Amino acid sequence: MGDAIVIRRGLLVKFISDSAIVEDLETRQRIRCFLRGRFRRTKTKPLVGDIVEYAEVGNSAVIESILKRRNELTRPKVANVDQVLAVFTIVKPNIEVFTVDTMLALIENAALSTVIVINKVDLIEAAQKSKFEQIVKTYERLYPVHCVSAKTGKGLAELRELFKGKISVLAGPSGVGKSTLLNSLSPSLHLKTSEVSSKTGRGRHTTTSAELLELPTGGWVVDTPGFALLDLSHLNAEKLKYLWPEFRQSGECLFSDCVHIDEPGCTIKKQVETGQISPSRYESYRKLYFGILERSEKQ
Ligand code: GDP
Ligand code: ZN
Repeated sequence: MGDAIVIRRGLLVKFISDSAIVEDLETRQRIRCFLRGRFRRTKTKPLVGDIVEYAEVGNSAVIESILKRRNELTRPKVANVDQVLAVFTIVKPNIEVFTVDTMLALIENAALSTVIVINKVDLIEAAQKSKFEQIVKTYERLYPVHCVSAKTGKGLAELRELFKGKISVLAGPSGVGKSTLLNSLSPSLHLKTSEVSSKTGRGRHTTTSAELLELPTGGWVVDTPGFALLDLSHLNAEKLKYLWPEFRQSGECLFSDCVHIDEPGCTIKKQVETGQISPSRYESYRKLYFGILERSEKQ
């Protein structure tokens, strides 16, 4: 008894100055843990999202080890992400499909599963209905799509189910309603929201380090949105094709290294012509492909 050391497992939910707040996997209690010196000296520091083993020693607790990570994001800095919710809107603001497709490619590149959330459906008017339906049809073939309204609550029950038992990251341009969505899912979070008119999109989330927020209906969501500030310029143009899931489903092209731009015998181009592959998705691919080429030629 007394000071016997007990090793327990917990989820690292946030850092407060030099210590980590760990939620015990069994008791669900939060414990403030100190980091062993070797975590500071070596490169493998614990991250938010890590499952750690910690030891309770008297009145304090120390992180002893980190369990193997399934993945690791750099922005926000978080481990073991199960899914990314890519949030977009058709109106207020009207997010261009190119922006959507770039973000989806970034998520593919991080090898994370994607769920598309179209928010603010309460604002879609009759005149925009067919465009909206077309977009849903295009993306439903590729990823799960949820049409929701953070304002009216439409679709939020579905979203709550989606979050359960997982660590999720929200992604998406500024103003699409990411903070509002989280606040509606968990009113006690009190996240700051902004008007679309204050269009800087920067600053709000850059200073604080990531934190896992626990939803009352289950599941964890990272408080800092991801992917918005990243681009694909570091990528090899020849690798871009692997980030379009509909290309992977298609048959073989004449050339095995076909990048589906101007090669003869390209199955992808044929499928774009017949409408099997969405022309707008293919256009985004071409635009990104040439964008990457241009940048790499400049260097
Ligand atoms: P974020 O930058 O993605 O976090 O976006 P915010 O959550 O700050 O929301 C931007 C603006 O959109 C705010 O004025 C919200 O009140 C508004 N908004 C968010 N969701 C909805 C919705 O479903 N319907 C409507 N009409 N407005 C919304
Ligand atoms: Zn091809």
